[in-house]
Amino acid sequence: MSFIKKVTHLAFSGFLWAIAWKYFGAPAYVAVFIVAGSIIPDLDLFFPQYHRKMLHNLFALIGMTILLFLLSSNFLLAQFFAIGCLGHFILDSLTEKGVWWLGFGGRIHGSLRTGGFLDRCFCVCFSAIAVAIAAI
Ligand SMILES: [Zn+2]
Repeated sequence: MSFIKKVTHLAFSGFLWAIAWKYFGAPAYVAVFIVAGSIIPDLDLFFPQYHRKMLHNLFALIGMTILLFLLSSNFLLAQFFAIGCLGHFILDSLTEKGVWWLGFGGRIHGSLRTGGFLDRCFCVCFSAIAVAIAAI
């Protein structure tokens, strides 16, 4: 995973947070959990043969969300963590490699090249929209 892709995940997290904060009245600190949810799935990069299979599926998302809820006893935080994870999965599903949403079987993929022009455009657009939403 290239640097720009991580930045795109962060930009998308900012976009999701801006919507949650501005339009749904979410507290500002939930940004931390959206960002965590958008970054943690890529911890499976430490096991390259399982990348996008081990932590990039709905079962892992549900498991991590339940674990966070049990540790924090805070449904709101677990909910925003799950939203961050879902955002990560959606973005990764746009790439050529795609995501095995169920952890097995077919994968959902697009034609976006990680670190490519479109990836950079997404990053800039999500960042700009997040700032615009938060500022207006
Ligand atoms: Zn990923």
